[in-house]
Amino acid sequence: MANPLDRIKPRVRGLKAYTLKPDRGAVKLNQNENPWGVPEAVRAETLRRMGRREWARYPDFVPAALHEKLAAFAGWRADGVVAGNGSNELIQATLMVTVGEGKRVLISEPTFALYRQVTTVLGGEVLSVPLDGALGFDVEALLEAIERDEPDVTILCSPNNPTGCRISEEELERLLTRAGGIVVIDEAYFEFSGRTVAPLLERHPNLAVFRTFSKAMALAGLRVGYLLAAPELAREVSKAVLPYNLNAFSQTAAEVAVELYDAELRPTVERVVAERERLFTELQNIGGLAPVRSCANFMVVRRRRTCASV
Ligand code: PMP
Repeated sequence: MANPLDRIKPRVRGLKAYTLKPDRGAVKLNQNENPWGVPEAVRAETLRRMGRREWARYPDFVPAALHEKLAAFAGWRADGVVAGNGSNELIQATLMVTVGEGKRVLISEPTFALYRQVTTVLGGEVLSVPLDGALGFDVEALLEAIERDEPDVTILCSPNNPTGCRISEEELERLLTRAGGIVVIDEAYFEFSGRTVAPLLERHPNLAVFRTFSKAMALAGLRVGYLLAAPELAREVSKAVLPYNLNAFSQTAAEVAVELYDAELRPTVERVVAERERLFTELQNIGGLAPVRSCANFMVVRRRRTCASV
């Protein structure tokens, strides 16, 4: 009998599905969410607005009000914003409109697994430059790869999941100037770094920035992410996004979170950053442990392997 699985692309058969082990710890750390939960004021205002809304009606085709608020929040233009059902959707959409057989995507590993996964499913080739010995970006090696292999897309996660390293504006500008392809910076954790590469959008039409409401914004359960790019590039990526991708509840909650960010969410981000720095100092004082500086809400800790003699 014919095996239907023979019709699946061999490169997909060769992949392991992107999964997450169920967490069993007393403190949940495995998805880098906001540990303090959504502020009561954000929850209450979202419920109030949803109570007045007609649920039988579709959400906005283009969530224009949210795009306007995100543009103001990010210091960018509303026609260069695309909101998505989590930033995962926008990673997928961007790769869908750029990647196929013969296309190359440059990444720096270890990093968020989805870039490799989606590129492979779409038939593209992944080029990987390892992080350097200190778990930072090897900018010279990335520049070399960009010049030698001319990737269609380069994706860097900054701050990087799982190492917390960040690419500086100066380093990124060197990559953007040399790159013939699109350069994507995944800023899922930018709030914890106190910096953003968004100001470079003005000068670099080949830059796209992804962000999420799942980490600092404390809305992982509602699935909202957004992309910032030149309007022409944003328009092309939108073509791979499904209509009504963002449901009315998530749209509303995201608008409220942006409106109340300074009053309600920024203080929780500041607490995370203060704790991260305290923990970094404390861990340095423990023999055999070497914490790695992080710009995110997680941290790698290296340990010296001690072999007990037998
Ligand atoms: N990018 C990075 C680097 C992430 O770590 C995550 C979540 N683990 C995402 C994107 C996905 O975010 P979202 O929940 O918005 O799809």
